[in-house]
Amino acid sequence: MMRGRFGRTLGALLLLVGAAAGCSRRVPEATPAQEAVSGAPTVYVAKRIRTLDASRPVAQALAVRDGQVLAVGSREEVLAAAGPAARVVELGDATVVPGLTDSHGHLAGLAAALVRVRLEGTTSRDEVRSRLSSAPPSAYQGEWLLGGGWDQNDWPEKAFPTHADLDAAFPKTPVVLGRVDGHALWLNGEALRRARIDKNTKDPQGGRILRGPDGEPTGVLVDNAMELADAVLPPPTEEQRAARLNAALEHCARVGLTGVHDAGMDLKTFRLLQQWDKEGRLPLRIYAMADGQTADREQYLKDGPFQGKLLTMRAVKLTLDGALGSRGAALGAPYSDEPAHQGLLLLSPEEYAARVHAFVGRGFQVATHAIGDRANTLVLDTLLKEMEATGNKEGRHRVEHAQIMRPEDITRLGANGFVASVQPTHATSDMPWAQVRVGPERIQGAYAWQKLKAAGAVLALGSDFPVERPDVLAGLYAARTRQDASGQPPGGWQPDQRLSGEEALEGFTVGAAYASFAEGKRGQLKPGQDADFVVLSVDPVDGPAADLLTAQVRLTVVAGREVFHAAAP
Ligand SMILES: [Zn+2]
Repeated sequence: MMRGRFGRTLGALLLLVGAAAGCSRRVPEATPAQEAVSGAPTVYVAKRIRTLDASRPVAQALAVRDGQVLAVGSREEVLAAAGPAARVVELGDATVVPGLTDSHGHLAGLAAALVRVRLEGTTSRDEVRSRLSSAPPSAYQGEWLLGGGWDQNDWPEKAFPTHADLDAAFPKTPVVLGRVDGHALWLNGEALRRARIDKNTKDPQGGRILRGPDGEPTGVLVDNAMELADAVLPPPTEEQRAARLNAALEHCARVGLTGVHDAGMDLKTFRLLQQWDKEGRLPLRIYAMADGQTADREQYLKDGPFQGKLLTMRAVKLTLDGALGSRGAALGAPYSDEPAHQGLLLLSPEEYAARVHAFVGRGFQVATHAIGDRANTLVLDTLLKEMEATGNKEGRHRVEHAQIMRPEDITRLGANGFVASVQPTHATSDMPWAQVRVGPERIQGAYAWQKLKAAGAVLALGSDFPVERPDVLAGLYAARTRQDASGQPPGGWQPDQRLSGEEALEGFTVGAAYASFAEGKRGQLKPGQDADFVVLSVDPVDGPAADLLTAQVRLTVVAGREVFHAAAP
């Protein structure tokens, strides 16, 4: 994800809450985390425990002590190993899987997305006004009231709203509301005034200010014009930042994540997480990639990698191009649906190589956002040159998205031990139009998970939240089916690239562990590994994939600590 402080992030959020609202899964309230009692083991007994350990792939019981797995096996075996003092938790018909990790998300983006007034599902502009009128203080940033998720197609008039719809109710309060798709903002008159948008404001490159017949702005900003609002929005206070980040972490635990790889963390968020990690307040593991795009990178370079209790920083995130939907992805040949356009590199090849060299020299793994085939080629050329020059072949570098790739680059990625950090729900979101953008030939190397695997690449799966929902069950579903939630297209899109249930589960567990240098420590359930696991109402490997869409997360356990517990039905 690459976005301004507000515009694209807000849009993405709107996507997130919009989608969440349409989801039938009831999200139970979290209960306070249960502290593990040192010394006394806990035994969890379930219908099925998927260990991802080839020597014993399925078990019925699992004992945990001091944050680690003590024993795995049959109920009798595990009870015997745990001894008479053990606490026994009966999980009934549930399935236990190793801790699920989202290998590519943005915690600060999710944090911002969670606090705004939710406008998805509104059936009229009136309803929007009434939801805004009862907004909690947390929905304000400075004096600005923030909301999102609206879709004018849900309202009787189907036309874009205007500032006038909000001005009577909010004459002095600036209001900014993101559209459900993340591509437009709706501002009231006061917000337009503060952003200094009037008749004389020109449309920025790649953006549009909707106007009335008199040339006056109507209050809707499209695409890059959203940055005009971003530029004047006050940043959140420290208290807001902390409350939101905490809400994002709790949200992740609630959806069954025991870990998140944060793809480009700002320094302020990192400092806060370092403090919380020291205080033992983190509910899940965070593998942070330093933001290598902004000025924060200088400090990260100075500090070097960091290893806390649940917080790790030993990667840097660099971003080479944009996204396919907005034709920002850098392609080697023009877009099939825009012949004069090839997208743009966000860093010059020289600048990218210089940053790779600096961070690798400081002991960081390099994780590069590359969507278009030109960007992917440049990543591989640069990393291979760096490895050649320094003789350091152990970097285990990651390509974030690895979305549109030439066949020879798929081969190079796999052959050199790089990780393909891919997002199953991006494929299912993009499948209606991806081939229109790149044509029938290049699509063969797009979202090509089985080809990447066949080339030897480890797949680490994620969601890119808040661009997509941080819903790991939806990710498992998309990985297995390459279908949308209504089962379209029949058989799945490019069905030969689907993952099996076990491969999908591996991507969110052992693949994520490998991508963060934690193989052997996490990702499986076997004695000696960290006791990170998730209890689900369904079996994600053998059960019907569609069941994942209505499945429940019952329990999330990180380092032996129950960090989320679904309320009893
Ligand atoms: Zn991202």
